Amino acid sequence: MQPAGGSTISVQAPDSDIIFACSHCSTSFVVDAAAAGMTLDCQKCGKPTTVPKITLEAAADNAVKISDLQHQLKENESQRTEITGYINQLSIQLHRWKLRLQSLNERQEKLQADLASLSASTR
Ligand SMILES: [Zn+2]
Repeated sequence: MQPAGGSTISVQAPDSDIIFACSHCSTSFVVDAAAAGMTLDCQKCGKPTTVPKITLEAAADNAVKISDLQHQLKENESQRTEITGYINQLSIQLHRWKLRLQSLNERQEKLQADLASLSASTR
């Protein structure tokens, strides 16, 4: 199955490393994902900087997943609408058949009654 929209966003193993830039000197560092949310001293400027909890790659990956889930939800919703329509149609048809059967039963009773009364009078 092709990804929705055909866009290819490279995902660099979101749960292995985090690439982030120091908030003071903008030097890029790679840290283990376990350091997410922790405050570390920058190896270059020495100032404390917070490791983001989510990488850009993971954010992009999430965006793709969200769009995919929204697409699936939309598709699911349209199938629900379709099936609900079928059920409604068949419910109406079922109701009609029940009414038809009821009138046939009533007619049967009337015909049997007529037949019984005629048979009785000719005897
Ligand atoms: Zn720094």
